[in-house]
Amino acid sequence: MSQIVFITGASAGIGSAAARCFASEGFRVVLTARSEDRLRALESELNQQHGPATAFAVKMDVTKAAEVETVIKGLPKDWQAIDVLLNNAGLALNMVPSYENSVAEIDTMVDVNIKGVLYVARAVVPGMLERGRGHVINIGSTAGHDVYPGGTIYCATKHAVLALTQGLKQDLHGTPIRVSAVSPGLTETEFSLVRFEGDAERADTVYADTHALSAEDVADAIMYCVQAPESVNVGELLVQPRVQSGSRMVARGEAAKGL
Ligand code: NAP
Repeated sequence: MSQIVFITGASAGIGSAAARCFASEGFRVVLTARSEDRLRALESELNQQHGPATAFAVKMDVTKAAEVETVIKGLPKDWQAIDVLLNNAGLALNMVPSYENSVAEIDTMVDVNIKGVLYVARAVVPGMLERGRGHVINIGSTAGHDVYPGGTIYCATKHAVLALTQGLKQDLHGTPIRVSAVSPGLTETEFSLVRFEGDAERADTVYADTHALSAEDVADAIMYCVQAPESVNVGELLVQPRVQSGSRMVARGEAAKGL
């Protein structure tokens, strides 16, 4: 029987790439996010390519604890035995000193990046324990390792994701459940478009004249954690583009030529 992967933030970027990667490796994928149309499109793409029961899409906002519980408890019977939880949904909003971030920006970053991870884990991990198998993978960031001007709150949330990952590993000490973090560096997705409220020109400058990771590169790192032998727990994989050496240290121009 194929393993089941439950993905948050599967409607775009790293989440969509991970879904495609898992499906092509024979996993079945539960696709969740808020954008139902995009989820449905990915669901039908994967079911056409890999067989009718490959993907199951369901709308879920990770900031709504009750909705998270209802969605996970309400999964069809043959989708309930989640083997891998990919806590991927996340975002940064704006790039200003933390005291200039609006209350809405602060709340959204904390709610999605920290509380969302906790809400989904508490709804999924007990089932993994009952079944005696499972793997939780949280998407961290290089921003979980350092801080940069304008990114205080986002960086703090990603530091929290690493603490939550280490803590969950300890909470599950001695059980068969594995816990990993995959921490990407600069990755070309809709991340900057969301951060700059749809300002495509500004978002494009983030990836200009350099060679960022693709969402597929990050999906490969996620797959590495999952496909490691059962006796191996990858605690964290920090994956950056070759041109990057810190959150704000990205080489451009000559250094990125030919990649
Ligand atoms: P993206 O292309 O903007 O995708 C973000 C995903 O999160 C979307 O599917 C979005 O779906 C979902 N999401 C946002 N708010 C949500 C909510 N309240 N409930 C459920 N889903 C929600 O960005 P990405 O780069 O793939 O980001 C994925 C993860 O990688 C994030 O945790 C991010 O912090 C991390 N990361 C990204 C980079 C980078 O450079 N791109 C680097 C390091 C780490 P809906 O809008 O449809 O809900």
